[in-house]
Amino acid sequence: MATDTFFGPDFEALESTDPEIASVILAELERQRSGLQLIASENFTSPAVLATLGSTMSNKYAEGYPSKRYYGGCAEVDKAEVIGIERAKALFGADHANLQPHSGASANLAAYGAFVMPGDTVMAMSLAHGGHLTHGSKVNFSGKWFTIVPYGVRADTERIDYDEVRAIALEHRPKMIICGATAYPRLIDFAAFRAIADEVGAILMVDAAHFIGLVAGKAIPSPVPYADVVTFTTHKVLRGPRGGMILCKAEHAAAIDKAVFPMMQGGPLMHAVAGKAVALKEAATPAYQHYAQQVIINAQALTAGLIDEGMRAVSGGTDTHLALIDLQPIGVTGADAEVRCDAARITLNKNAIPYDPQPPSIGSGIRVGTPATTTQGMTEPDMKEVAGFISRAVRDADGSAAASIAAEVGDLVRKYPAYPRG
Ligand SMILES: *Cc1c(COP(=O)(O)O)cnc(C)c1O
Repeated sequence: MATDTFFGPDFEALESTDPEIASVILAELERQRSGLQLIASENFTSPAVLATLGSTMSNKYAEGYPSKRYYGGCAEVDKAEVIGIERAKALFGADHANLQPHSGASANLAAYGAFVMPGDTVMAMSLAHGGHLTHGSKVNFSGKWFTIVPYGVRADTERIDYDEVRAIALEHRPKMIICGATAYPRLIDFAAFRAIADEVGAILMVDAAHFIGLVAGKAIPSPVPYADVVTFTTHKVLRGPRGGMILCKAEHAAAIDKAVFPMMQGGPLMHAVAGKAVALKEAATPAYQHYAQQVIINAQALTAGLIDEGMRAVSGGTDTHLALIDLQPIGVTGADAEVRCDAARITLNKNAIPYDPQPPSIGSGIRVGTPATTTQGMTEPDMKEVAGFISRAVRDADGSAAASIAAEVGDLVRKYPAYPRG
C-alpha cells in the first residue's frame, strides 16, 4: 500500500498493524482532496493541529483543571491547557475559558447544567427554523428534560423578529435564553437578545458553534460582551480539532467549570485540548483574519451564483459563511439534490427551510458553506464556477452528467490541494 508522507513515519506503523483501517483513512483523505467540500460545519484543520491530535497527549488522564488534578504527572498537560485558556481569553476578550468540552453538544449540556434544572423553562430557536438539536429537540436531552419555548423566523423576511422574541420571553419568563443556530445565514443581534434577557431576568447563552471562527477572525461582531455564556465547537470555521469550548463572565466561571467536570464529563481529551490551543494561536494571526473575511466574501459570491442559476437564497442572501438555498423554484428536493451532488463529488447537505412544506427527511433546500474551500485558497471566480457545478448536478435527475461534472470538480480542486501530497 502506498504510504502517504503527509502523515509522516507514524502512518507506516498503522499500515503494518492495521492495513484495513489504514486504507480507509487514505481513502477518506482522497475523498476530501478530490471533491468539493461545501458542508458549512466542516473545514480542513492544519497539519499542526493534526500532529497534536495524533500525539501521546492522548495517553494522559487529567481529571480536574490545571494544578487541581485528580492524577499525578499532569505538569506537561497543565502547561498546554493553561496556554490554551490564556489564548482563548485574549483572542475573544473573555473573562474565563473552559477548553474541556468534548464537543459542541457537550459544551451545551454543561451550560444547561450550570444554569438550569430539569423542568425549567428555556427559550431557543426552533430546529425547523435553523436551531440545533440541543436547543430543545424532543429526541435530545434538552427537549426531554426542559420546558422549551421556541422562537423562529418571520415568514416574510425569514429573519429573527426581535419583537416576537421579546413577546414570547415576556409571556413565558424563561430562565435561560439561547441564540445561535446551525442554519441561519444572517447576523444575530446580540444586544437585542441581551436587553430581552435582562428584561425577564434570564441567563443569555449564545451557541456560537457555527460562526465563532468569523468572530475570532474579526469578520463579524462578537457575542462575548453580551452573553453570560458562549458555547461553541472548535472544528467549524475556527478550523481546530473536533471539540467544544465555553467562554463566560467571571461570575459564572466556577459554575461552568463544575458543570463540565465533574457534572457532565470525566477526563478531558488532552490531545484535543492541546489541539485547541494550537488552533487558537493560528486564529490570532492576520492570515486567519484575512481567511475569515474571505469565507464571507466567498459565501456571498456562491450565493449570488446560485441565485443566477435560478435558485432562491433564504432571507435573500448571507452575512456569514453559509447559505440556505431553496430549490423549490427549480423543482428539486433537498434530498435529491444531496444525492445528485454526491455523485458529482460535491459534498453538501439537504436542509429544511423555514416553513418547509416537505418533511425534514426530504427538505426543500440545501445548505452550503465556504469554510473548507476558502482554506484551500479559492476565491470569488471559483465560487462562480462552483455555483455552475451545483446547478448542473442538482438538475441531473438521470445521473448522465455526474461523471463529467465530477471531472471538472477534480480539475478545480487540483488547483487548490487541501493537503498537498508528500
Ligand atoms: C455543530 C453545532 C453544535 C454541536 O456540535 P457537535 O460537536 O456536533 O456536538 C451545537 N450547536 C450548534 C449551533 C451547532 O451548529
